[in-house]
Amino acid sequence: MNTADPTTDLTALLAASGLGRLRPEAAREAITHIEWRPPRAGASAPWPNWAPEPLVTALIKAGIEAPWPHQVAVGEHARAGRHTVVATGTGSGKSLAYLLPALAELITEPTARVLYLAPTKALAADQLRAIATLDLPGVRAAVFDGDTPRDERDWVRQHANLVLTNPDMLHHGILPGHGRWRRFLRGLRYVIVDECHAYRGVFGSHVAHVLRRLRRLAPRDVVFLAASATSGDPAASVGRLIGAEAVAVSEDTAPRGAMTFALWEPPLQRDASGEEHRRSALAETADLLTDAVVAGMRTLAFVPSRRGAEIVSAMTRRALREVDAQLAALVAAYRGGYLREDRRALERALLAGDLTGLATTNALELGVDLTGLDAVLLAGYPGRLASLWQQAGRAGRAGRDGLCVMVARDDPLDTYLVHNPSALFDRPVEATVLDPGNPYVLGPHLCAAAMEAPLTPADLALFGAPDELVDELVDAGALRRRPTGLYWTHPQRPEVDLRGTGGAPIAIVEADSGRLVGTLDAGSAHHALHDGAVYLHQGTSYVVDRLDLDDATALVVAEEPDYTTHARDVTNLDIVAVRSYVDAGPIGLFLGDVDVSHQVVSYQRRAVGSGEVLGTFPLDLPPRELRTVAVWTTLSPEVVAGIEDLPGSLHAAEHAAIGLLPLVATCDRWDIGGLSTALHYDTGAPTIFVYDGHPGGAGFAERAYGIAGHWLRATRDAIAACGCLRGCPSCVQSPKCGNGNDPLDKEGAIMVLDLLLAALA
Ligand SMILES: [Zn+2]
Ligand SMILES: [Zn+2]
Repeated sequence: MNTADPTTDLTALLAASGLGRLRPEAAREAITHIEWRPPRAGASAPWPNWAPEPLVTALIKAGIEAPWPHQVAVGEHARAGRHTVVATGTGSGKSLAYLLPALAELITEPTARVLYLAPTKALAADQLRAIATLDLPGVRAAVFDGDTPRDERDWVRQHANLVLTNPDMLHHGILPGHGRWRRFLRGLRYVIVDECHAYRGVFGSHVAHVLRRLRRLAPRDVVFLAASATSGDPAASVGRLIGAEAVAVSEDTAPRGAMTFALWEPPLQRDASGEEHRRSALAETADLLTDAVVAGMRTLAFVPSRRGAEIVSAMTRRALREVDAQLAALVAAYRGGYLREDRRALERALLAGDLTGLATTNALELGVDLTGLDAVLLAGYPGRLASLWQQAGRAGRAGRDGLCVMVARDDPLDTYLVHNPSALFDRPVEATVLDPGNPYVLGPHLCAAAMEAPLTPADLALFGAPDELVDELVDAGALRRRPTGLYWTHPQRPEVDLRGTGGAPIAIVEADSGRLVGTLDAGSAHHALHDGAVYLHQGTSYVVDRLDLDDATALVVAEEPDYTTHARDVTNLDIVAVRSYVDAGPIGLFLGDVDVSHQVVSYQRRAVGSGEVLGTFPLDLPPRELRTVAVWTTLSPEVVAGIEDLPGSLHAAEHAAIGLLPLVATCDRWDIGGLSTALHYDTGAPTIFVYDGHPGGAGFAERAYGIAGHWLRATRDAIAACGCLRGCPSCVQSPKCGNGNDPLDKEGAIMVLDLLLAALA
């Protein structure tokens, strides 16, 4: 904790930031740490002599007088034929860094082609607008995505020399039809992979193989230019993503304003039933956003969940209406899953200044190029330092300070962080974790690649395909071996689910009108859209009438009941194989493959406000089966003999361990599942399992296993640091618990973790 009296700094902070309306009493209680980052002057470089005159003229006309040295460095590497990643902060001109060599090539070489990939359609559209504004001779840029009209597609294929698209379209549209893209692919000089830190986990592993499929069909000397948020070891991550060695440019030479960063822990409260919990981060964020809008500060509030973004926006509007009805119109919510037209309208309003406050999910993290705001509020730690700095970097600009306030959520990771600021401010940004070797990802892409062109031994080396996997695909009849290579001989295309969400997204449809309200990924539907679920969308509350899994549709009715719903589930886990283990006497630590069966069986209604359980209702949903990777730990029955409530202690330790895993692996709490039991049939001992929530795993459990001591130490410290008596959401309760957080024993969890740490040391 900060030893200096934060209130002294706080007065200056409030005065300087304009957040003067912050209640000083609340702030004195809530702020655990203030971090100040000094401004940086920055440097500039002359325009490189390889940049053609029309390009330099256009850039100067657009307000860029001279490039920064790191931008020129990227171009030098690119022109020398080296795959390059630029990994610098928000607002450091990464676009210009990769566009400079790419546009120079297009202007000077008529047959050259460039492919630009963004993780979202919005970002590709944004880039097209920016490039079109430059109005460069010889540059014919066009977006090619699912929204491109059929009659324009031929023109793009034949005439565009800069095509902007996304990995999904590359996978579904461009690579399978590569015959029609022959001319474009033959001239391909650069492939730009923007916001490449988005390609992590299972999705990242999929994109890695899409890029290998592209490399196979492109000229040998094609150069990849990637842009990433600041990240640990970007060269290695990008190397794994593209399947080739890359160099990194990570010294940021752009000027930057000073940044004040405050950590804010909401007060502990006791509800009517005596349960302890902290005031919600959403409510505190809404208060701060209200103050900011009243003060006229352009402010973004990042909220990790879609539902949370809706709530913050609704609460802020309600509070503002009491001050001045006009102010309420200056606030809105923004998230993925909104219809395209709605998102565009919000982006335009924010850019035009018609909105002052926006509560957003990280959909905006990758979306419009929006920097120079007055303040950024984070409702909870966004899960990764890379995201934290990306989001915080939207505040402030050269010559002007920015303010960022991170409000701790009621969970163990946030509790740990606001009491251990060095874990935020003195720790290098984590590396991007992806695992292209996952056979569940690799297998389907080998089939897709074979459909595009027969696979040769050199191709198999490019994909890193082990012989056993290839034999398996041949034996299963997916691939056919011929003297000229491996062939896909089926009439239909192989099925590959790039976003790894387990099936088509569920369409949310209003029952009376048939209007499409939005979509939700299939993986979340059992929990969030089951029959009877209360579902919030753009501030409107809906009740699900019927979830039809065959039609991938949820019929909903606009309704605002006085209860919330919470799904209950049953999980079974079988150990398939042990990959590695540590034998520490009475303690065992294991990494291996497991089969998880997960079924949502019922849901509870709880009263809004008091949280009182109003009833439990059965559901009839099929189990979801998952073969994945888990890390687990066993304790001998003797060593835990003194622990009174063993199931509750293991369960509490499991929850907190899942909560802290994002500290050591670049996962979300929601990417991870867990199971604990006083006796597991496969281990014959008290056991805690933590598993990757994706088929084949995403590398998270493996990472946890490799760094288990650090992970479990932080877990123990987070529980011990929490001031509650019997356990609360800030330490051992979990919002996604399928057992309604019962049983849980906070003290026992600390004992279990002490036993583990003593043995593993
Ligand atoms: Zn607690
Ligand atoms: Zn649980």
